[in-house]
Amino acid sequence: MLRYPTRLDFRSHVWHFVKCRFYSQINLEELEGSKRKSIHPYSPARTRFAPSPTGFLHLGSLRTALYNYLLAKNTGGQFVVRLEDTDQKRLVDGAERNIFDTLDWCKLDIDESPVHGGPYGPYKQSERKEIYQKYAQHLLDQGLAYKCFCPKERLLELRESARLLKPPTNVTYDRKCLSNNDSGNGSYIIRFKSPHNYPKINDLLHGELNLQPQYNSKDQRYDDFVIIKNDGMPTYHFANVVDDHLMKITHVIRGDEWLPSTPKHIALYDAFGWSPPKFIHIPLLTSLQDKKLSKRKGDFNILSLREQGILPQALVNFVALFGWAPPRELNVKSSELFDLDQLVKLFSLDQLTKGNAKVSDSKLHFLQKEHFQRVLQDEKSFNELVDEFYPEFAELSNGKSKEYFLRLLHELGPSLDSIDGVKDHRYLFENVDYTNVRAPKDAHLAKVIVDDILEHGINDAVERLTTQGLPKKLVFMTLRSALSGGKPGLPIPALISLLGEKECLKRLVSFKDTLL
Ligand code: GLU
Repeated sequence: MLRYPTRLDFRSHVWHFVKCRFYSQINLEELEGSKRKSIHPYSPARTRFAPSPTGFLHLGSLRTALYNYLLAKNTGGQFVVRLEDTDQKRLVDGAERNIFDTLDWCKLDIDESPVHGGPYGPYKQSERKEIYQKYAQHLLDQGLAYKCFCPKERLLELRESARLLKPPTNVTYDRKCLSNNDSGNGSYIIRFKSPHNYPKINDLLHGELNLQPQYNSKDQRYDDFVIIKNDGMPTYHFANVVDDHLMKITHVIRGDEWLPSTPKHIALYDAFGWSPPKFIHIPLLTSLQDKKLSKRKGDFNILSLREQGILPQALVNFVALFGWAPPRELNVKSSELFDLDQLVKLFSLDQLTKGNAKVSDSKLHFLQKEHFQRVLQDEKSFNELVDEFYPEFAELSNGKSKEYFLRLLHELGPSLDSIDGVKDHRYLFENVDYTNVRAPKDAHLAKVIVDDILEHGINDAVERLTTQGLPKKLVFMTLRSALSGGKPGLPIPALISLLGEKECLKRLVSFKDTLL
């Protein structure tokens, strides 16, 4: 029998042991190969994303939201967003807004939520207090839960003494209040009368797991976890179970870190006589060094990527691949490039992977480049991009027109990875400082080129000068240095056309005066 890890010691060796044990079970299943049954539902799935607004939405949570979204949409079901905000002390200003803004930016259409409404609301747990009270009362009436009046100090002592036991245990309460239920008018919490042995859990991805608390037989304690706190608010476990049931959730996709809580949840479902949803616990996100994702790598505000010009379709594609792989056809070179609609069509629980997912920045940049090029090829997406970024461009370019922005993107597009790259071409709108530009190696010939252009015009300059026998490469280099300060990206004819003849000649004069 396996020890039951708490969230706190989730990453300890014991947990590692637990994982190894159940991964070995999976390998046996995998050996059966083709006999393995599909775990993907055929009927419409109702899924939910249940974030706590305690910070910005990070990559791991976006993946959870995305997989729940994909499962719902792939099966013609609904995607629900429920805010788990009962821990009022941990709420962060702006977090709720950030969650919805991020989902909206990624174009994950929500069917039901505090913002979108729906038939099973309210979708904010802090507004459902009476509902939880009613269900807690039901358990109290059935003798499946009890009020606990123990003062804080006593509970702390119990915790400390449990820690000192050999072996130590996280199961700390001694059930003093189970029989002493009506003591006084003071504040109380409500505890669930936990079973000594928790039911086994059946995870679609990991199979059957038997996770049990570790008891100390010499000093019997009970895992009677709290369901209602002394402020009348439910705990995560209780609210989560009541809501998943009342909101008719069929599938719960969530991070591995919730696996140790699942036996508690199943015990609550059993106590109410409800059937639980299907659980799918997905692996951790790690950085390439195989460490749990550090702040720098994944725990940042996703919307800051938008400011860097990352496209939501690139980000969604990137995040989809953290633990899911598209079906592969034998002998067909498979692509990993998908937009959201393609992901909805392709997504299947059968293609979820079990190992920790490694996050690599270079993959995001690869996908971004590919998606950006797709946007440039697609008229509708291209126009949307232009509309979204034109105001910023107008500011950058001192009021250049939208037509100019369009022309610029057509010319510059193939060399860009993101819209943000336009900022590297400020020389189009600002004077070039030639003191920072490298002088041509052959200053004499460069001067011949510049003088010729100043005398005969710029429009057919390249052709004219090369037929006179001047090296094409030198003509190009001289023009690029004079017109863009040496910045690559735009083809010379496009550079000339975007700057206009007058501006080009002005730059050639300054270039010559400074460097030749
Ligand atoms: N509120 C939990 C969280 O913040 C939800 C966990 C679950 O999906 O059950 O991740």
